[in-house]
Amino acid sequence: MSLIVQKFGGSSVADPERIRKVAERVVRTKKSGHQLVVVVSALGDTTDELLHLAAKVSKNPPERELDMLMATGEQVSAALLAMAIKTLGVKAMSFTGPQVGIITDRSHTQARIQEVSAQKIKEVLARGWIAIVTGFQGMTSDHEITTLGRGGSDLTAVALSHALSAKICEIYTDVEGVYTADPRMVPNARKLPTISYDEMLELASTGAQVMQARSMEMAKKYEVPLHIRSSFSASKGTVISKEVKAMEQVVVSGVSLQKDEAKVTICDVPDKPGIAATIFTRISDSEVNVDMIVQNVSRTGYTDVSFTVGRADLNKVLRVARRVAAEIKAGKVIHDGGVAKISVVGLGMRSHSGIAATMFKALARESINIEMISTSEIKISCIIRKDQAVKAVRALHDAFTLDKLGLKPVKEKAVRARK
Ligand code: ADP
Ligand code: ASP
Ligand code: MG
Repeated sequence: MSLIVQKFGGSSVADPERIRKVAERVVRTKKSGHQLVVVVSALGDTTDELLHLAAKVSKNPPERELDMLMATGEQVSAALLAMAIKTLGVKAMSFTGPQVGIITDRSHTQARIQEVSAQKIKEVLARGWIAIVTGFQGMTSDHEITTLGRGGSDLTAVALSHALSAKICEIYTDVEGVYTADPRMVPNARKLPTISYDEMLELASTGAQVMQARSMEMAKKYEVPLHIRSSFSASKGTVISKEVKAMEQVVVSGVSLQKDEAKVTICDVPDKPGIAATIFTRISDSEVNVDMIVQNVSRTGYTDVSFTVGRADLNKVLRVARRVAAEIKAGKVIHDGGVAKISVVGLGMRSHSGIAATMFKALARESINIEMISTSEIKISCIIRKDQAVKAVRALHDAFTLDKLGLKPVKEKAVRARK
């Protein structure tokens, strides 16, 4: 009997009515003769609400306690779903991440999975029951509760799919699949029937939150078969697979946006070997991920070093940057929290030239200034003003004629209002 892992995101389980609908869908899958593991996120916006609560009692809540708090969200939805399934006469049991042996490192709020035993899941499946598992959480080897970064239920689903050799990992969400751009922002975005692991990883890492970036790293590494689809309809969504030939003809597959970026500049940095190493070692020791880095040409023996980080890390990185600036005898540290990163992604970029020129021209036509640029084999990203970001996404979507990819247009009901 083949095993399916299904993951339901926060909007799919936002209220009791939706939980009952999920229960019905899960029971249908079970009755079609599959073993079934279901991963759930917290109800609706619960995780955000818990973080707001924390902010009300503490300016700088300890990350260990944040994990204790956030991990409660998923426990509620898992237990409610198990109850709803039992009401339909099917046996199901809910478990927390720690109970099913999801062992992580100690990086609270951003923990990495080190090992998955899934012992309890195997026992329950062997008895013919459905196993419900809380997404987004794990435990260190010394029994501390951890969470896997925002959107981390995707990672739980991918990790369990790999550990249990699932036939397919189905990610149920509030849109019908992966689109050429966020369909909430670009009304004429197209649903992609398939996309490669590489492209989805780049899209996710540059802001397409439909899949958590870290979950895509794991899915790519172990080639976990993925199907992203809507929990509100039966239609086929987007299958994520290894590169296929037909897809090579599509030069650009998608446009993505990371709204909450910040730019930091360390001015008048001595232009000497080892200085960049010192700066970025200090920053990485503070567990902040640096994204783009730009260093100006030095004419005077001093140069400016700019880099971007997620907006949430700005205060932390500023403290480190000011300390290291003093240490290396650089000038002042300035910052800008009003920037966004816009990216175009596509496997076809490997073999086509002129993509960057098309991108820059489209932005210029809209009078959008480019502040930083970075490229990879299948992606080009630009830092621009945040207040021009949506205009930029739409302009790039048009410039690469993504609305004419010959695929299905977005239907009205495909994009549900968020709860
Ligand atoms: P869930 O709660 O189910 O995990 P998320 O909110 O994390 O759902 O991800 C789904 C959302 O991702 C969609 O509602 C959509 O607004 C957004 N999104 C961003 N980029 C894309 C894209 N290229 N294709 C589809 N959805 C996207
Ligand atoms: N509930 C968590 C979050 O909001 C995990 C998830 O939804 O995937 O980030
Ligand atoms: Mg998500």
